[in-house]
Amino acid sequence: PVVLGIESSCDETGAGLVRDGKLLGHAVASSMDEHARFGGVVPEIAARAHVHAAAPVVHAALADAGLTMADIGAVAVTTGPGLSGALQVGVAAAKGFAYSLGVPLYGVHHLAGHVAADTLEHGPLPDPCMVLIISGGHTSLLLVRDLARDPIVHLGDTLDDAAGECFDKVARVFGLPYPGGPAVDRAAREGDARAVAFPRPLTGPRDDPYAFSFSGLKTAAARWAEQHRQAGRELPVADGAASLQEAVADVLTRKAVAACVEHGVGTLVVVGGVAANSRVRSLAEERCAARGIALRVPPLRLCTDNGAMIAAVGDLLVRAGAEPAPLDVSIDPSAPLEYAALHPVARV
Ligand code: ATP
Ligand code: MG
Ligand code: FE
Repeated sequence: PVVLGIESSCDETGAGLVRDGKLLGHAVASSMDEHARFGGVVPEIAARAHVHAAAPVVHAALADAGLTMADIGAVAVTTGPGLSGALQVGVAAAKGFAYSLGVPLYGVHHLAGHVAADTLEHGPLPDPCMVLIISGGHTSLLLVRDLARDPIVHLGDTLDDAAGECFDKVARVFGLPYPGGPAVDRAAREGDARAVAFPRPLTGPRDDPYAFSFSGLKTAAARWAEQHRQAGRELPVADGAASLQEAVADVLTRKAVAACVEHGVGTLVVVGGVAANSRVRSLAEERCAARGIALRVPPLRLCTDNGAMIAAVGDLLVRAGAEPAPLDVSIDPSAPLEYAALHPVARV
């Protein structure tokens, strides 16, 4: 069947249509501009924007695919983690579509969606594969087997800030526009990555090889900027951005490749919004090639939040014969990533 996926966990309203692992069409609306003057996502504004965007985005995805409502055979929706008000809107919309069309509903973990995004471009994931999830709210190394059936093994997470959060916060300190990640990436093009010796947190011999920490890096960047200000010197933003980006990309790719080597896993999949970063991509390529590891990174449009990735998980669940969610399935704003499907019935 054609699976409709709906995503509304943060500031993007996404809808996508997937059948048998193939992306048929998708559409995304973002309330990003409405949050810009606050310097971060405002939950109430995001939720209200989802209310306005949900139906139009589903219709746009259908138009993109050349399909109609009647073609939809199942609905998948992000039930967590994310902002509760935002999640509620997407889940309510998904329930409405599933109930009115008389098709099954699946509740999907947002991060499983980020992982599955890559299958839409590069086909089924090999079993096992190493997944580096780097987004606005998460930084994790995962050992993934069959995404639809098996539990996901967490090798490590960030102890404090996520990689995307680090980019976003440092961008503010550097006076770069919102959202910070893409702005740092752009500014870094004109800068020297060796200009500032930012630390490489948790890369010492006694550190947890799979844990991450980015709050110290954020502090180091802020201190560097402050020193320039106090001395009355203009901030060399491009050099700072390039050096910060180099430090983040270095730590992320070093640990991810080491995890592949340690676990004898031949494929690294890098997903989430920060996988859009140009230096993360190039350094991952370089280091995977040196170790004979196959690297998979979704195309940019599938890296950040979208509905196609949620439809991709729904499609995997349908084909694995997973139990659908009950129509009264609730959101889980802080759901841990254990299984791709969030409703407990799929776990038995
Ligand atoms: P989560 O998926 O953890 O719930 P999220 O959905 O907000 O968080 P994503 O949409 O996956 O996160 O990614 C957004 C993050 O990606 C932001 O922090 C943004 O700054 C970052 N990002 C996007 N493009 C780039 C880039 N080119 N370089 C660095 N960071 C980037
Ligand atoms: Mg977003
Ligand atoms: Fe996300």
